[in-house]
Amino acid sequence: MTSVLPSASASREDFVICSICLFCFQVCMLCSVGYHLFSCHRSEKTCRRWMALDYAGISIGILGCYVSGVFYAFYCNNYWRQVYLVTVLAMILAVFFAQIHPSYLTQQWQRLRSIIFCSVSGYGVIPTLHWVWLNGGISAPIVQDFAPRVVVMYVIALLAFLFYISKVPERYFPGQLNYLGSSHQIWHILAVVMLYWWHQSTVYVMQYRHSKPCPDYVSHL
Ligand SMILES: [Zn+2]
Repeated sequence: MTSVLPSASASREDFVICSICLFCFQVCMLCSVGYHLFSCHRSEKTCRRWMALDYAGISIGILGCYVSGVFYAFYCNNYWRQVYLVTVLAMILAVFFAQIHPSYLTQQWQRLRSIIFCSVSGYGVIPTLHWVWLNGGISAPIVQDFAPRVVVMYVIALLAFLFYISKVPERYFPGQLNYLGSSHQIWHILAVVMLYWWHQSTVYVMQYRHSKPCPDYVSHL
């Protein structure tokens, strides 16, 4: 906040968005730290509560990604920016409440958990495609610049999800990866990599927006 943003000549708006984004990322990390510190609690119920927070934290982190992504993708289009910000916020709130539901981590909800996770991350495809269309298709220079960054982020998210759902590698080495190398640890590392990658992309987009003012034609869309 004190070194990266001023050097990118950030405005007050940029500071607000970056604060929200970093706040979400920190809540995400705090929830994980909380669970992994207190999961050894002697009450199974307490342990499960913390575990629910561990997953809820990830959706808060995803919210941070969405807020900054939507804000800069629709920088020149106030209407769609607000539509997507409100829908994203509503979706994440709904997911958050589902995740702290007492039966969220039960066996019966296992399918629902995967569906929720996929739809929360998959939803981003809609604003992305809309953004590509608004900017004049795949061949537009701005799309060529930023679409690969979104794709990389989705590849990282997909990898994280695959580890999460398949429980590789500990399913092949039962009992040997209890301390180091379990799928849950890989999932967290990939989550950190994803948040870091998205943060770097946000700063990059912000610099782009400052160097190139919004074209006039967008106001008619
Ligand atoms: Zn965890």
